[in-house]
Amino acid sequence: MPSLKGNQSTSRTLNRLLLLNHLRRHGPTARSDIAAATGLSPAAISYVSSELLEQQVIAELDAVADGGRRRMTRLDLNYAGHVALGVKLMERSLRATLVDLGTNVIDTLTADVDARSPAAVARATADALADLLERSGEHRQRLIGIGLAMPGQHDAERGVCLRCDRFGWKDVPIAALIADLAGVPVWVDNDVNAFALAEHLFGAGRQASSLAVFSFGRGIGAAMIVDGQLLRGRYGGAGEIGHLTVVEDGPRCECGRLGCLEAVTSLPAILNAYGIVRPSDRSIDPAALATLAGEGDPVAREILDTAGRRLGAAAATFASLFDPETMVIGGEGVLFGPALLDPLVATLKEKNFQRNTEVFVEFWNDDAWARGAAALAIDSFFSLPS
Ligand SMILES: [Zn+2]
Repeated sequence: MPSLKGNQSTSRTLNRLLLLNHLRRHGPTARSDIAAATGLSPAAISYVSSELLEQQVIAELDAVADGGRRRMTRLDLNYAGHVALGVKLMERSLRATLVDLGTNVIDTLTADVDARSPAAVARATADALADLLERSGEHRQRLIGIGLAMPGQHDAERGVCLRCDRFGWKDVPIAALIADLAGVPVWVDNDVNAFALAEHLFGAGRQASSLAVFSFGRGIGAAMIVDGQLLRGRYGGAGEIGHLTVVEDGPRCECGRLGCLEAVTSLPAILNAYGIVRPSDRSIDPAALATLAGEGDPVAREILDTAGRRLGAAAATFASLFDPETMVIGGEGVLFGPALLDPLVATLKEKNFQRNTEVFVEFWNDDAWARGAAALAIDSFFSLPS
């Protein structure tokens, strides 16, 4: 948190954030109602809103109120006024998604890249930006920047990947490498943190003062946002719940330890468990396993039920520690369907010491991670610079 000196530019920044966050949470609002809700003076709202209108961050909407007797102008975010690029990095590919200010998808592409090479990742990211800007006809001047979401621990402030076991990275200044090629600001963070930020800004956590997300897919992680701020921890490792030991002397995890939750219940581990009992040469995916469970296959049902209960217990541990108002479940693992999600949510509710946590399961699709990544850039409009 930067020091807040009582000078004019600081109060302008704070007024701007109050107004933008009000519109983000409540949608189109008349100036007088913003004043009543935020405590800002009409003069302050007038000053800040004219600046934001000029910058095309907000727009004026005409509406008729009082049963047609009075015309009133409301302010809203100008969603189409700015765009951001979100990039989700995986082991052999990246998915790049161009979104508007509300993280709505404009266009998307997938490119092959070897994630073990930071230079190749930087080049592929800059190329993806150029391709998507050209294809969509969006102007570079309206681009806020690029958000990169990937596994591991990051120094988000400096844009450095401190450690990523999956890709073999250590102290890689990836934001600077990309910015040198792309010529725009770049933010980098853990993919689960990025997902949490997207849910906080424009998702299920939009109205919540505190939000937790629990995500499971190739990896398992959790993240927590309080009053708009991500809890990152000193070395960006907060929320690494996938590395709780759940089976003493269990299978080896990519972090090097034995029996981590992630080694036992990640998406590949679940598919692998089914393949061991029912060997077959056709590869099975989460949707296929969900279908088998739905048809009553006892092996599929048993594996998904066990995994769901383990994941639910971990999510309950996280919720019990942090007492979030809202918790969102996401990740590719959602595609395993009700045979896994029902026991997950039931166990989460049963074991959560905090009885009032609202739980949502995110409908998952291919753009979800990249939209989260874009939120890393978009958040710069809605929070204080770190
Ligand atoms: Zn581990």
